Amino acid sequence: MIGKDARVPDTDQADHQPLELNLPRVQEANQSYASVSNRPVLSPRPAKRLCILTCMDARLDLFRALGLSPGDAHILRNAGGRASTDAIRSLVLSAHHLGTREFGVIHHTKCGLYQVSNQAIWDGVTDATGADASHIDFLPFDDLGASVRQDVDEIVGCGLLPADGVVWGATFDVDEGALTVVVPPTPLA
Ligand SMILES: [Zn+2]
Repeated sequence: MIGKDARVPDTDQADHQPLELNLPRVQEANQSYASVSNRPVLSPRPAKRLCILTCMDARLDLFRALGLSPGDAHILRNAGGRASTDAIRSLVLSAHHLGTREFGVIHHTKCGLYQVSNQAIWDGVTDATGADASHIDFLPFDDLGASVRQDVDEIVGCGLLPADGVVWGATFDVDEGALTVVVPPTPLA
């Protein structure tokens, strides 16, 4: 399920070890997080009026990489950072209910959806479970820049976002940590 040029194994030794549950550890970490008394009161409306659609990849820490703080932006994440129907749902709510006007699409190098096929993903699911997932388009892509442009076009074309908004697209290099704009800010009107 990983592209030819992105030879990060999707299964490794750890996948065959008994599951070590994270919940006790995250509960412990949360106790110290929740014990901080001077927590800032933040508005649910993103302070920078920014909404970013990006991948769920575990290596991406966009708050740090883009100099954002909690309260600044919505970060919508799914596999690939694709402008799926559900991503559009969140973008529309972000804009119309919570005031965002700048929409960014960020796809990244070494993405698990790069140069794979729906068929290979469907086969993997069937091999693992016996179930048929072929009703799901996993939205794989063969060209990183093209996938960004396609999703920007999808967002512009949905017709559901405010005319005074802008959308841009960029790629993120997971090795270098560098953002490269491939679609400059484009008015939604
Ligand atoms: Zn990815």
